[in-house]
Amino acid sequence: MREQFDVAIVGAGPAGISAAHVLGGRGIKTIVFERGEYPGAKNISGGVLYGHDLARILPDFREKGCPIERNIVESRLWYLSNDGGYSVAFRDRAFCDRLFLNAFTVGRARFDRWFAEQTKEKGILVVCSTVVTDLLRDARGQVIGVMTDRPEGDVKARVVLLADGINSALAAKTGFRPEPNPHDVALAVKDVIELPEELINERFNVETGQGVTTEIIGEITEGMDGVAVIYTNRNSLSVCIGANLSDFVKSRVKPYEMLERLKEHPMVAPLIRGGQSKEYMAHWVAEGGYDSIPGLSGNGYLIAGDSGMLFNALHREGSNMAMTSGRFAAEAIVEAFDKGDFSSNGLAGYLERLDGSYIMEDLKKYRGFGKFRLEHHELFTTLPRLHSFAAREMLTVDGVSKKEKQRIIWKAIRKEISTGKMIRLFRHGWGSIK
Ligand SMILES: Cc1cc2nc3c(=O)[nH]c(=O)nc-3n(C[C@H](O)[C@H](O)[C@H](O)COP(=O)(O)OP(=O)(O)OC[C@H]3O[C@@H](n4cnc5c(N)ncnc54)[C@H](O)[C@@H]3O)c2cc1C
Repeated sequence: MREQFDVAIVGAGPAGISAAHVLGGRGIKTIVFERGEYPGAKNISGGVLYGHDLARILPDFREKGCPIERNIVESRLWYLSNDGGYSVAFRDRAFCDRLFLNAFTVGRARFDRWFAEQTKEKGILVVCSTVVTDLLRDARGQVIGVMTDRPEGDVKARVVLLADGINSALAAKTGFRPEPNPHDVALAVKDVIELPEELINERFNVETGQGVTTEIIGEITEGMDGVAVIYTNRNSLSVCIGANLSDFVKSRVKPYEMLERLKEHPMVAPLIRGGQSKEYMAHWVAEGGYDSIPGLSGNGYLIAGDSGMLFNALHREGSNMAMTSGRFAAEAIVEAFDKGDFSSNGLAGYLERLDGSYIMEDLKKYRGFGKFRLEHHELFTTLPRLHSFAAREMLTVDGVSKKEKQRIIWKAIRKEISTGKMIRLFRHGWGSIK
């Protein structure tokens, strides 16, 4: 076919479609390739999106029918042992009105499809069920298009945007991004559990349309560096657990068994009781942070979103970084067209924008956080167990004085973790996020 386009985008996830929105209607002939049957078909999870980043691309996203599940009004943090745990929650009136849709849940199958649909009126061509198998390059190595798995499906383009996510082999195959190191990715499994809307409102103590996110760490990941989440959708809960891939390899824990054990935890089971499993999925998460980011631009190409490892593992923010990096890439591509220069120099506006944004600032700030978690497995073993022991001891009324209980607790703590180690843990932890 060898059809000529101005821009070819690989992947119709938040990064690719955000770029398409910005390029649309500017006379830049753009094609998006998506390997799924439709955008979102391969991203079936429910997840949290952020209104600020979406509004910069589609200011009237609500009026245009964005398929919002629930507006998040409360964020919970749980630190769990196998038998119990601590809960900290923050709810604020501002998230109901002034900061409405600061964060909200969506089903990705519906959201991605809707988001891509909106680009049609801007003249963008989204071609589904098509895998980009490689990149076309000229004799000097400049990227000049893509090869697809369609018969005669090569497409020439002046710029290619790789927005193909973390699970794609393409970036690695082309040599633009090394195969992710097992330390830099987590494997997450997710179950979407259907429950009546009113029952979710009751169990999470929210009004209709309001939602809660729960982020969980502790013994639930069976000693591995990992995290679990429970997100409320309109009439379902997304229950997800994941851990560092290198830990999975060492421990031989089966991800689905870990998810089943999470669902049986005394703090989780009452929330999901009576629900029906609707979707089960597994996906990688790009957790390597700043030090795992590959070169994000070159002659004739840019890399955005998860494919560029742009994910904030501490705050679980990836969709916002994908949308904003997609927008930045498109803005830089528009500049390159103005200059008629599609080399890495002509596309330099992309890295400049990223460097000047919250994306690189945040990723730099937390660059030591992944190493901290991997080097302190006691965060997922001894500490949650001791925390629960201390609370259980203090809350058990059994005729033993509180002073004696305090002594018992300190003795148990000192037996398992020295004061020096505790100080090092706090220092290292603070140093990795400050
Ligand atoms: C279980 C889980 C829960 C998460 N929860 C949250 C959350 O609550 N909030 C949040 O902000 N982030 C969350 N994330 C992260 C978030 O999903 C990602 O950061 C975000 O989806 C990245 O968007 P993207 O467009 O870069 O990549 P993706 O969404 O992965 O999209 C890439 C697209 O490219 C397509 N593709 C790949 N290769 C090819 C190819 N060769 N040819 C054609 N098409 C191709 C794929 O099918 C896919 O549609 C979560 C991730 C996981 C795994």
